[in-house]
Amino acid sequence: MSITVVDPATEETIATLDSAGVEETDAAVESARRAFPAWRAVAPRDRARLLRRLATLVEEHGEELARIESRNVGKPISGARGEVGMVADVFHFYAGAIDKHHGETIPVAGGVDMTFREPLGVVGLIVPWNFPLNIASWKIGPALAAGNTVVLKPAELTPLSALKLAEIARDADIPEGVLNVLAGKGSVVGRRLIEHPDVAKIGFTGSTEVGREVMKGAAATIKRVTLELGGKSANVIFADADLERAAAAAPYAVFDNAGQDCCARSRILVERSAYDRFTQLLIDATRQLKVGDPSKDDTEMGPLVSRQHRETVASFVETEPLFRGEAPNSKGFWFPCTLVEATNDDRVAREEVFGPVAALIPFDDEADAIRIANDTPYGLSGSIWTGDGAKALRVARALDTGVLSINSNSSVRVHTPFGGFKQSGFGRELGMHALEGYTEIKNVFYSTEG
Ligand code: NAD
Repeated sequence: MSITVVDPATEETIATLDSAGVEETDAAVESARRAFPAWRAVAPRDRARLLRRLATLVEEHGEELARIESRNVGKPISGARGEVGMVADVFHFYAGAIDKHHGETIPVAGGVDMTFREPLGVVGLIVPWNFPLNIASWKIGPALAAGNTVVLKPAELTPLSALKLAEIARDADIPEGVLNVLAGKGSVVGRRLIEHPDVAKIGFTGSTEVGREVMKGAAATIKRVTLELGGKSANVIFADADLERAAAAAPYAVFDNAGQDCCARSRILVERSAYDRFTQLLIDATRQLKVGDPSKDDTEMGPLVSRQHRETVASFVETEPLFRGEAPNSKGFWFPCTLVEATNDDRVAREEVFGPVAALIPFDDEADAIRIANDTPYGLSGSIWTGDGAKALRVARALDTGVLSINSNSSVRVHTPFGGFKQSGFGRELGMHALEGYTEIKNVFYSTEG
């Protein structure tokens, strides 16, 4: 079996790779299992040095990694550079976190009670195609920092940057077997990792549908799981917001990465009294987005990842849109920025489109905004725009979502927790919180009596 890797902007084949099967998966798990005792025993300072070296080599290979990612996903090179920069920052952060994630002593009678944070063992990491290396690093960083060894399975469509990272890790002297990368199918490699008795945990990012399968499969061996799944986030614009700023920022919050973003604020909720004015400002801002060749420095949006995905995205535009932008009509899986008017019951507002289609939905007042924003099975991200600070905090507390921003659409940072409520999953990535998902707490009582 082989994997054909395609450039979504030109439809050209970039690479043909062997696809790993069950046997290769078992071999990778075995190699990670053998490497575990020595890796967990590496002194914290030395483990930190190795992760720092990995971060530095990622920086040194930054342009090469960004080019690989841009070509494989079709994402603008400027965005890919930012993502690779974040990968290095993530490894730097977890290098520094190793000796700051420690246990406690708890007052008890007759002795000393202490807790240790133990690594889990071999962890299987399964990641999607939209931010391939970035999301892989969010899991690899805390997993390795905590003393686990890793088998990573990138998405079939976008395995190239992860394979390059495995090479870089070897150059960084990360010991053999500590970080294993396998390009292969979810239904083969992914499934085997989930079933394998020697894999202690699955860190999964992907669709809610596959997340359900991961959870089911993990039940057989009571594997730990963290699930970072889909989203249908709301960008809530109140009439008292700085409408110009909110409208200028809104296109990027949904069309960045061609809308293939779990955090995409693809439901734009606008207070009725400001609806017409905001809509006009939003159309003007969206018109300015530069769609085209991802390798150009000033491109802001590239194509979708595959032909099949473009068909899925197109199926969401069921009526004449309010606005449809420009996109190349050459080869490539292009789709224009599209704004539609909707109610929260329409399919475009209920399901994750994962493409450049945003639904504009009016609301009456604060209570109505909260009701509509929460009326979704998802709860990943979202934004609130208002000039009233107390209202901003009231609404933020009332929204059932894991990651929010006020008067901004940016809520993903290396050192702050990221993850979802409801069917957007559970567990947190990034920051110190991610380390919780890669350690077990062990409680030890030491008697001091006679
Ligand atoms: P997907 O669920 O189809 O695939 C994700 C990964 O799971 C891939 O590596 C795939 O090969 C693997 N997989 C597929 N079937 C499997 C199975 N039966 N067993 C084990 N592994 C299997 O998702 P996708 O299409 O690659 O990515 C898009 C989805 O990811 C969207 O829903 C998006 O919202 C979500 N996502 C979530 C986050 C987050 O942090 N919450 C971030 C990015 C993407």
